[in-house]
Amino acid sequence: MSLSLTPHRVFDRYGQITPEWLRQRGITLLLSDLDFTLAAKSTRQPDQALRDWIEGLKAAGIRFAIVSNNRSGQRVTDFCASLGVPYVGHAGKPSTRGLEEAMARIGAKRQETAMLGDKLLTDMLAARRAGVLALMVEPVGGAVTAWQKVLHALQSPWKAACRRKMKAGR
Ligand SMILES: [Mg+2]
Repeated sequence: MSLSLTPHRVFDRYGQITPEWLRQRGITLLLSDLDFTLAAKSTRQPDQALRDWIEGLKAAGIRFAIVSNNRSGQRVTDFCASLGVPYVGHAGKPSTRGLEEAMARIGAKRQETAMLGDKLLTDMLAARRAGVLALMVEPVGGAVTAWQKVLHALQSPWKAACRRKMKAGR
């Protein structure tokens, strides 16, 4: 078990992650956080860009599921039903419980799984502890509230460390 917080890769937005990039790394299951990763928190329905991206993954044989700590059960249920993707709610990240449940349900090993999210202390820590590829995105819509700005600043050294490694080709 690793306690590193540093993501394996940082992206500006989820759409930069392509099926080809995932395949090259042996990934066949992409797990993803919902809020600020795929959509702003108040968004009730997925937009066309998100639908297209997920369809592209599925068409290339990449399985996809949402693992969310969100407690608004109905909104997450409706959002995921509209996308046609499975989800684990109340996942309790940084616990690995939700990730383990999704991998077991879908039938994927940790070596072929990646977790995408916008937060270090929930998404990336859970990914690292579960031993899956940890992919981080800048928050959808950017940091807006005071708390988001603080969080954004606190997370930046780890993202910078990751970007330095990426630049060095590691
Ligand atoms: Mg989030």
